[in-house]
Amino acid sequence: MPFSDFHGNAEIVHRIREMLERDRFPHSVILAGPPGSGKYTLATMVARAMNCLERPTEGGLPDFCGQCSNCVRIGQSEDLGARLAEAVEARDALKETEKKETRLFVQTHPDVLVIPPDPPQMMIKVDQVRHVIDTIYFRPSEARERVFIFTDSAFMKEAANSLLKVLEEPPEFATIFLLARNPGELLPTIRSRSMILPLLCLSSSEIDTYLARHRPEWSAQQRALVARLSEGAVGRARSFNLAEYAAGRANAITLLSTALRSGDHSELFKMTESYRPGAEGREKMDLLIRCLYSLLEDLLFLESGSQDLVRNTDILPELRRLAQTASFTWLVAATEALGNVERGIRRNLLRSLSLDAFEATLEAPLK
Ligand SMILES: [Zn+2]
Repeated sequence: MPFSDFHGNAEIVHRIREMLERDRFPHSVILAGPPGSGKYTLATMVARAMNCLERPTEGGLPDFCGQCSNCVRIGQSEDLGARLAEAVEARDALKETEKKETRLFVQTHPDVLVIPPDPPQMMIKVDQVRHVIDTIYFRPSEARERVFIFTDSAFMKEAANSLLKVLEEPPEFATIFLLARNPGELLPTIRSRSMILPLLCLSSSEIDTYLARHRPEWSAQQRALVARLSEGAVGRARSFNLAEYAAGRANAITLLSTALRSGDHSELFKMTESYRPGAEGREKMDLLIRCLYSLLEDLLFLESGSQDLVRNTDILPELRRLAQTASFTWLVAATEALGNVERGIRRNLLRSLSLDAFEATLEAPLK
């Protein structure tokens, strides 16, 4: 449970704990890094270290016990996916009028507030920031430090401007975390009032070592594959669902090989029809798109003679067969067409239709 459970980025963790030790932790911190690099986990760990009732130390630096009432309650936020699903469900159950006025938050401790991007636009909204402003100037009730964690850097314009006002005069007992894939998305004036701490990706071999400890049921070959596919993101590696990925990738291969060989479409239509509306279909579609990108990228690697960069190493013979019929131009066009599908889905076009349209685009140059 303590900081030693955080994998990778040891220097940043050390720096954070030194700042905690000297009681010089900044009021606003941007944790920057790719998805899965541990930004959220680290933020909740710091929130626990700030407020742990036992205040243990390790190697002379502050740590947290994971067991006191503050640690336990803050720790309940750690499974962000589950907490978010609960919050969305609770809001969906409200009356239409109340629903409109209810903004999304995750709060498992009275002094620690998690602010996620609000669906369906998936942006942080001004009402969410207003709620932060309404509460941030009250002294913490059960903790030493009030902690606010914005889990995404996509702010509506008005929301960003409101946040800026808080950052200009933050109360001494509050800490704001801004988690950002790319800190460049945040207003320069927000960046300049925050300390930016970058979390780096881990190497494939570091991820492999981690998986050997945490997913002992996986074979060495499976670990190596996941280490490559998770692109250095330890969170993604740990929760990687190999069976689900294999299913999505099989569909992606059907799409690409049907387009390349311009053959029988019955299997393809059966597959695209299985992409239904609703949340479940959405996840399935997101996975399919990720798999398509990953395969197209691998094919481009093969095409340019960089076989050692291929990620889907377990299906190399199959990729080679596909690469024989796919030209460089076709691969680039396919990647662009995939971008259009992605945008179409964000506009909520019927999923199976946008897949069929994608297929038609891919086949066009061959006819
Ligand atoms: Zn504790």
